[in-house]
Amino acid sequence: MAPQGYRGRFAPTPSGPLHFGSLVAAMASYLDARSHDGAWLVRMEDVDPPREMPGSADRILRTLEALGFQWEGPVMYQSQRGEAYRAALSELHRLGLIYRCACSRKTLSEGARRGVDGPVYRGTCRDQAVANSSAALRLRVPEGRIVFDDAVLGRVACDPVQECGDFVLQRADGVYAYQLAVVVDDADQAITHIVRGADLLTSTPRQIVLQQALSLPSIRYAHLPVVLDEHGDKLSKQTLAAPVDDERPLAALKASACFLGLTPPADLVNPDEFWRWAIAGWPSRIARPVRGYRPTPCNS
Ligand code: GLU
Repeated sequence: MAPQGYRGRFAPTPSGPLHFGSLVAAMASYLDARSHDGAWLVRMEDVDPPREMPGSADRILRTLEALGFQWEGPVMYQSQRGEAYRAALSELHRLGLIYRCACSRKTLSEGARRGVDGPVYRGTCRDQAVANSSAALRLRVPEGRIVFDDAVLGRVACDPVQECGDFVLQRADGVYAYQLAVVVDDADQAITHIVRGADLLTSTPRQIVLQQALSLPSIRYAHLPVVLDEHGDKLSKQTLAAPVDDERPLAALKASACFLGLTPPADLVNPDEFWRWAIAGWPSRIARPVRGYRPTPCNS
């Protein structure tokens, strides 16, 4: 049975053109949404201007279009969502769940345990009433484990206090943190299912903590193995992974499908045919194709 009102999304950071690793994430989330008769939305995660590469948001959208992806409604841009993030922070403030932190980078790292995302914050400013109104804002992370059932990885459990501690929602330079922006946007876009790379798995418990703090609906997750390069490193825009070739959309689509464990027939002639075939053949449980995962795409 298709879940009622499936809404999926693809949320690239425009720090460079679309590369093969992002295409795999976009394709898996698209196929999962479409095969459940769901909606699929695109959101540009341009919340952190210094990380952006000018022009890459448009370029990513052009590539998605050339490959035949169809999304619902206008693209959401995080750079235009300041008001929504401010409202979420006011709510958390009202609930007494955030506090200012003026710790320097040195204070943060000295003697701290390493967690999933750098040093685990020891709560130095938790009860300090830091007066500096331009200091960073952190969330008070409650004690206890976060457990969720990932469609690919099965049951995932973690203890956010041990693994990251109170985390930043707004940096001292005013930039809203990815964790805050994602949670607020997913809720505002009424996203029900997130399919993305396993490089984001360590962020998921923090996002669940925030959803719970803001009393937002929970979301179903599927974390795909990430695409690696020949050195075993994740393909990323930072390592200048090659852009997907818009001129050869069918070849890019087939390579990505192969990576997802699908076997595209040789006689598909264009992206439309590819999508018809791929949507019809996508299994109702995303875990199935992923079992056939290879670290490198097959040649097609
Ligand atoms: N913007 C993130 C990235 O490009 C993805 C965020 C998400 O899917 O939650 O890695």
